[in-house]
Amino acid sequence: MPEVKVANLAKRFGDNAVLHDITFTIGDGEFFTLLGPSGCGKSTTLACIAGLERPTGGSIAVGTATFVDAGTFVPPEGRNLGMVFQSYALWPHMTVAQNLAMPLKIRKVDRREQDTLIAETLGRVGLVELKDRYPHQLSGGQQQRVALARALVYSPSVLLLDEPLSNLDAKLRDQARAWLKRLQTELGITTVYVTHDQDEALALSDRIAVMSKGDMVQIGTPQEIYETPATAEVAAFVGRCN
Ligand code: ADP
Ligand code: MG
Repeated sequence: MPEVKVANLAKRFGDNAVLHDITFTIGDGEFFTLLGPSGCGKSTTLACIAGLERPTGGSIAVGTATFVDAGTFVPPEGRNLGMVFQSYALWPHMTVAQNLAMPLKIRKVDRREQDTLIAETLGRVGLVELKDRYPHQLSGGQQQRVALARALVYSPSVLLLDEPLSNLDAKLRDQARAWLKRLQTELGITTVYVTHDQDEALALSDRIAVMSKGDMVQIGTPQEIYETPATAEVAAFVGRCN
């Protein structure tokens, strides 16, 4: 059901046009990655889907809900999306359980239901025994899992992940990558993933959208992107320099 449709998305900051004409559709349950070098507009695209930035043109819809078009702008709290950013931004003065409770309180979920959802979600990410710890008492990898748990606890229709692994060291990153992929497959949750790391994109994605300087250059499966890059730039970027 939660098909994500982004059509002719444009975004300007002042007179700096950072997204020109971005169009893509993501199927239900798909792991879809926006890949491209730093500054190409990946985070801005994700922020527009989240409602954190207001596009200057185009439309965004999830399932039957229109979030953005010429006459519509649904604020972030009306979109039921889960988000994890590069910096996990857990609330430092709250325990793991309290961090997960916050989005449920905002949604006025009753207390008993909160406890059930928190226990369930912590079980899913393997953190039940850490529920009373504070963020500074957790490793980077554990903090990242808590951030993901907090994004999942209210059953969002779509998960938005902006370089969630980039603060981890290389070894942890490989583990986290495998774990993230397993979890996403298990949950079957539609995921929009942002990274500048080609290996990560190739390993995780059902499909990859390659961006360059605010334009969409190519959309395809990892195999298509790798074997038949649309431009020399894509070829160079995904590691095929013929
Ligand atoms: P990426 O995530 O691919 O690295 P971004 O979407 O963060 O790229 O940035 C795309 C361009 O938009 C960059 O040139 C960046 O400086 C600019 N930009 C992003 N956010 C803002 C903002 N809030 N105000 C002004 N310029 C911005
Ligand atoms: Mg970014």
